[in-house]
Amino acid sequence: MRTIRDLIRSVFTRERAPKPPEPAPGEIPVSAVGDMLDYYSWELVPPGVWIWPHFSPRELACKGTGRLLIQRRAIVALQALRREVGRPMVILSAYRTPEHNRRVGGARDSRHMLGDAFDVSMEGHDPVEFEAAARRHGFRGFGFYPRSSPPFMHIDRGAPRTWGDRFPR
Ligand SMILES: [Zn+2]
Repeated sequence: MRTIRDLIRSVFTRERAPKPPEPAPGEIPVSAVGDMLDYYSWELVPPGVWIWPHFSPRELACKGTGRLLIQRRAIVALQALRREVGRPMVILSAYRTPEHNRRVGGARDSRHMLGDAFDVSMEGHDPVEFEAAARRHGFRGFGFYPRSSPPFMHIDRGAPRTWGDRFPR
């Protein structure tokens, strides 16, 4: 357990801050610290707060504004999914501010604005296996974009639903 002093020190000595240890599943204090990470810019996230080794604050922040608003439970699930699939997951879009969501033509009620939706490139993945694994980790909303470049799958933790054409096998 890191002390407050360690945390403060790590903020000011970012380059030399030790890499956070990889937490084992179940070790992450999900509810103890509130469920929302909310930073005006991804650059403001202290290294000690970010405990998900396969994803960076930058790649989950809004691509248009840099703001980062993500549900902790959603990143925990994303990280667990990453461990299961065992290969890189390229996140094309995660959090979006409402303004940015409008700009990119996102749905009016897009889960991307709630911080629990991720668009994952399917390059190097079997979409059928990926979807099954995502379901095991609590993702219930799925959008399929097999003809985009790169092809991608939207996953979120909202109500169960699917849209788009399934990937060809
Ligand atoms: Zn999406």
